[in-house]
Amino acid sequence: MTSLHFAVVGAGTAGIATAILLAKRNIQVTLFEKAPTLDPVGAGLLLQPAGLAVFEHLGILDDALKLGARVNGLEGRLPNQQLLVNSHYHQVGAEYYGLGMHRSSLCHVLASKAQSYSDLIHWQMDAEIQSYSESKHEVRLKGLISGQTYEAGFDGLIIANGARSTLRPQAWVKVDQAYPWGAKWTIVPECSALDPEILHQFHQGSKLMLGILPTGAIPSQPEQRLSSIFWSMPTPLLDHFLRRSQDRVQWLNHIANQWPEVATWLASVIHQPNEHGVMQSRQWLSAQYRDVVMSKFGQARVGVIGDAAHAMSPQLGQGANMALLDAWALSQSIDFARRHEQIDWGKLWQHYHQQRGSSTRFYQFLSRLITPLYQSDLWWAGGLRDLSFGWMYKVPYFRKEMALTVSGLKSGMFTQMQYQDIARSDRHDLST
Ligand SMILES: Cc1cc2nc3c(=O)[nH]c(=O)nc-3n(C[C@H](O)[C@H](O)[C@H](O)COP(=O)(O)OP(=O)(O)OC[C@H]3O[C@@H](n4cnc5c(N)ncnc54)[C@H](O)[C@@H]3O)c2cc1C
Repeated sequence: MTSLHFAVVGAGTAGIATAILLAKRNIQVTLFEKAPTLDPVGAGLLLQPAGLAVFEHLGILDDALKLGARVNGLEGRLPNQQLLVNSHYHQVGAEYYGLGMHRSSLCHVLASKAQSYSDLIHWQMDAEIQSYSESKHEVRLKGLISGQTYEAGFDGLIIANGARSTLRPQAWVKVDQAYPWGAKWTIVPECSALDPEILHQFHQGSKLMLGILPTGAIPSQPEQRLSSIFWSMPTPLLDHFLRRSQDRVQWLNHIANQWPEVATWLASVIHQPNEHGVMQSRQWLSAQYRDVVMSKFGQARVGVIGDAAHAMSPQLGQGANMALLDAWALSQSIDFARRHEQIDWGKLWQHYHQQRGSSTRFYQFLSRLITPLYQSDLWWAGGLRDLSFGWMYKVPYFRKEMALTVSGLKSGMFTQMQYQDIARSDRHDLST
């Protein structure tokens, strides 16, 4: 029997991973999710070695490998066919790789694992938590479950409700703003025109960026391999993308001028407008990003993790990995601060900030630095990037540092985490 009971708000990557790791420690968890069903919408994403280390720790890596697509590196090409980005995981270590995954597959492997702790993890779907209050002995949550008012007390609260969280303590928030650029994305049958083990990007200045990510399969159609396509745009233009049939022709011509083989493949998978002359609205969806910086991630009985704590542009492909690392670090900090059914909260957050503080700061700094070089109206940004990156990739030290950064294993400017330290099972692992 356990008496500790945590509330986790948000059943995204951070929330479900946290629920599993708390349950592994015999802690009761109520997982609140405002969506009525677990049906994640979103572009495919790339799990980096750091995220895969957490998967190994969770015992779900083998399941993820069956659905995901192995990715050996990232290649970003310029119109003159030179490689702007040329990062391969083997530059960090021969055993490293990334995994392209559909969001529903990522959710599926996490939720299936959570299912094996059904005695400890209580799902509350259609449950929107609207506020909480904290006292010395508990945190009280208030919200709506299936339209009915709800209120209950818990020993601890983990806020994992994504970039637009209104629950994160405002006093801890230093920055919370929308990025001026976002992306259109769609998922199509696997790209046969390009190496299927590479995340391909195509750049022209800072105004054109196209990405093609191997995305693996979804659980209901394991034989159909998929790719995600990303097209960068200023957010005010997102709703106007490919509205008319001539837009599609112009778009394909524009790409064909620089990368003809890519345009030929796109023409085969991006459909013609429907009979009303409008592109099928379901085919392309919009993604907008936020930049969230907090002065701290936890205090007393309340913590904030995942995008709710450090949303950033997906340029470095780290968001889901950081969410997984947060969940892992939180569980390690609980081990450090727990004596039987008592938690020393001060010790817990001190340990957590040691684990996640400098790594999160490093990735947020880098993300804010490089995002305008890829997505902005600045006339000089693309040129500066092409010049500096070209030079950087010629120096072996920087080449390795770039690969390490992409791997998600940097814990600061000059320090790194070890895959095995994250992946190793610990004494709480019930090997279910
Ligand atoms: C276009 C794009 C591409 C990306 N590519 C990558 C990539 O390649 N690699 C990578 O690592 N990351 C990538 N990311 C980032 C990644 O998707 C996020 O960082 C990650 O999903 C964050 O997970 P999370 O659990 O913190 O939040 P979320 O996944 O946003 O989950 C939050 C959950 O909380 C629920 N919720 C919200 N409010 C409430 C409430 N009040 N009560 C109850 N429930 C609530 C929501 O419904 C949601 O299910 C990308 C993001 C975008 C937009």
